[in-house]
Amino acid sequence: MDLSRKSALVIGAGGLGGPALLTLAAGGVGRLVLIDDDRVESSNLNRQPLFTEADLGQPKASAAAARLQALHPALQVTALARRFDAAEAVELASSVDLLLDGSDNFPTKFLASDAALRAGKPLVHGGVLRTSLQILSVVPGFSGCVRCLFESPPPPGQVPTCAEAGIVGALAGFAGGLMGAEALRLLAGERGAYAGRLFVYEARTGRGRLVLVRRRPGCPACAGTQPLEPSSPVACPAPSAGAAP
Ligand SMILES: [Zn+2]
Repeated sequence: MDLSRKSALVIGAGGLGGPALLTLAAGGVGRLVLIDDDRVESSNLNRQPLFTEADLGQPKASAAAARLQALHPALQVTALARRFDAAEAVELASSVDLLLDGSDNFPTKFLASDAALRAGKPLVHGGVLRTSLQILSVVPGFSGCVRCLFESPPPPGQVPTCAEAGIVGALAGFAGGLMGAEALRLLAGERGAYAGRLFVYEARTGRGRLVLVRRRPGCPACAGTQPLEPSSPVACPAPSAGAAP
């Protein structure tokens, strides 16, 4: 399948977005837009394969774009070194064929889902915490959305951040690669392995399961009445020693 005329917006170029971007570029997707307002830190290098020590202190968006461009000269890549925000979320979503959310905070994850529905574009949603990962594809008109699954973002402090809880570095690579492969399936016109089915994988036991995610009656995002809310200004801080191997 020739995907050279297909495009994707990848939110976050870190632990999930990095491996996903590599998978999308290697899969032949013609145009990638990546948005990330973070800078490369030494604690990122164990699980963020787009970066090397030479990139420390650089904006992740431009460093990631440069690496992808070097690997795949024919790729059209646009780096946006800013936060994915409500003011331009729908416009950005409308400019591509698919969204992939590799962000690290719940407000951004809800905004990505709401914007994808508004734009009528599929979204590959994913997250990693400690030793487990979750992936869901939101396909407008077919599946439930992130808001159908969780209703609303948890209050700040209720769910630990990756810095507080720690994550297994290799698991982020696994999750990001799976998210990229799922995006390739959707861009190729296939249904997607996780369309309306939340994949939950627990690394400690090696067990995975799929949970049906149907459209929830009354979900304001699926009904098109959900106002877009600003994403969190709080990025995942650098982990303390031993928190994120
Ligand atoms: Zn919904």
